[in-house]
Amino acid sequence: MAAALVVRGGGAAARALTFGVLRQLHTVYQTVELPETHQMLCQTCRDFAEKELVPIAAQLDKEHRFPAEQVKKMGALGLLAMDVPEEYKGAGLDYLAYSIAVEEISRGCASTGVIMSVNNSLYLGPILKFGSEEQKHQWITPFTCGDKIGCFALSEPGNGSDAGAASTVARLDGNEWVLNGTKAWITNAWDASAVVVFATTDKSQKHKGISAFLVPMPTPGLSLGKKEDKLGIRASSTANLIFEDCRIPKANLLGQQGMGFRIAMQTLDSGRIGIASQALGIAQGALDCAVDYAEKRMAFDSPISKLQAIQFKLADMALALESARLLTWRAAMLKDNGKPYTKEAAMAKLAASEAATAISHQAIQILGGMGYVTEMPAERHYRDARITEIYEGTSEIQRLVIAGQLLKSYGS
Ligand SMILES: Cc1cc2nc3c(=O)[nH]c(=O)nc-3n(C[C@H](O)[C@H](O)[C@H](O)COP(=O)(O)OP(=O)(O)OC[C@H]3O[C@@H](n4cnc5c(N)ncnc54)[C@H](O)[C@@H]3O)c2cc1C
Repeated sequence: MAAALVVRGGGAAARALTFGVLRQLHTVYQTVELPETHQMLCQTCRDFAEKELVPIAAQLDKEHRFPAEQVKKMGALGLLAMDVPEEYKGAGLDYLAYSIAVEEISRGCASTGVIMSVNNSLYLGPILKFGSEEQKHQWITPFTCGDKIGCFALSEPGNGSDAGAASTVARLDGNEWVLNGTKAWITNAWDASAVVVFATTDKSQKHKGISAFLVPMPTPGLSLGKKEDKLGIRASSTANLIFEDCRIPKANLLGQQGMGFRIAMQTLDSGRIGIASQALGIAQGALDCAVDYAEKRMAFDSPISKLQAIQFKLADMALALESARLLTWRAAMLKDNGKPYTKEAAMAKLAASEAATAISHQAIQILGGMGYVTEMPAERHYRDARITEIYEGTSEIQRLVIAGQLLKSYGS
């Protein structure tokens, strides 16, 4: 897989294109020297996004259509299992590489970015970290090449931020676990072939009574709710998973019984780097679009990019984006170096998601009326950005995580 990335990574330089199309970066890539592998990967992903995603992103969004063909191609490039070792058929790369790739893919299509992020971080991540050797071969390898993707089911209709209050239950009956309950808002639900599910095996222990399970999809006793009709990321499916006496083998417990909450929280630390990167991609796409438009749009006999009011907006957009990118890369590099990164991942997600919302908002302002119609990608960036402040922990939860870690570091 890594070889595929490297060979393709030697492609041509990024091209400056017109509205809605990827534009050459004049950003941090030129000021911070990335390792050569990561530069090549970045170029590969940018080329892929430009060719395969940008031309269809608006249509996918309009039709709420899963990009099956593109996901398959991403699998062939190694993008669906980026930090999975080659022995399980992954690309064997690091999290910095993953962050760069998710950003580039999301710059072309944010829905495809989250499909990729969920498979990498939320589905494969916990199995790689907590699964047995047998589970890794069974539940990781088939999900690396784009034939199958996975999902992650923690949230419920009654509890999202308060994930420890899970009411989905799992009880052992002979050699089988029997699951009952409803999981809500599950990304990839309609397109997935397996799910990591969190259910309580001992309610009296509260969050310490939660366990994680591997469930194939479809499977008897598991049904899908309706596809949610969302504001943004509309090409990725989101739905409830309903468990009614759903029986799975005893061996499908992931990690130890009662370890589920820990698995979920550690998984979300990594996942937040993925969502931060998705937000960076959306923000970069919005900035590209705004700069391109500002240089071409004439008002009062000159391009609006000559107006200081527009330049100040562009400067603030670039500042927010590049600051968030550095935070995201720092979180990824801490993870790659085996250092704690909970606070840094929360900071990255918070900064990048709020930057994406602010930047896509200002991009619409710079485009004026053209920012408000579907002819241009600015309105889609604006709709896509909003979710990054909600899933994998809302902005309020990120602030709680950051403050908690900060106070801990002061010994409070
Ligand atoms: C499109 C989409 C995709 C999703 N994908 C997945 C997925 O794949 N898997 C999955 O498990 N979940 C998924 N989710 C669920 C998502 O993670 C939750 O929506 C999110 O965690 C918030 O939970 P909630 O919606 O229940 O809001 P609530 O927890 O009810 O929060 C409502 C408001 O109260 C605030 N709040 C809550 N508690 C506190 C607190 N202690 N301090 C301060 N403020 C607080 C929140 O920040 C928010 O503003 C997805 C959601 C969406 C919309």
